Formats: sequence, structure tokens, C-alpha cells
Amino acid sequence: MKCVHCAGEMEKRTAPFDIERKGYRIHWNAIPAWVCKQCGEPFFEETEVNKIQDVLSSIDMQKSLLA
Ligand SMILES: [Zn+2]
Repeated sequence: MKCVHCAGEMEKRTAPFDIERKGYRIHWNAIPAWVCKQCGEPFFEETEVNKIQDVLSSIDMQKSLLA
């Protein structure tokens, strides 16, 4: 896999992931991702993106408990 920014080599590592949502913000320290050896740009695979979406949708369902 090549980096979309600099066309550098990507390697399988982990990368932090931040997301800002309505009313809250989540930070993961280490999500499995492809990371560019040259510029450090992370690329998250669909599997991980889907898992993140699942977590976010369950938070969205539960967060009204605190509102
Ligand atoms: Zn790159």
C-alpha cells in the first residue's frame, strides 16, 4: 500500500484516533492502522472504521441518559 499524500511505504501499526461529536469528544490511543513510514499519515481500514462507527452509535443511543 502507498501513502496517498507522499506515495511512501505504509506499514501496519497503530495510530491515535480523535473524533469530535455533538456533545462529546473521543480519543483512542492506538487503533490498528497503516502508517506511512515517510510522513506518518495514518490510514484506517474499513474494519476499524466500522468498529468505530459501532462504538459511536451505541454512545449516541446511551448518551441521553446523562443529558
Ligand atoms: Zn506519506
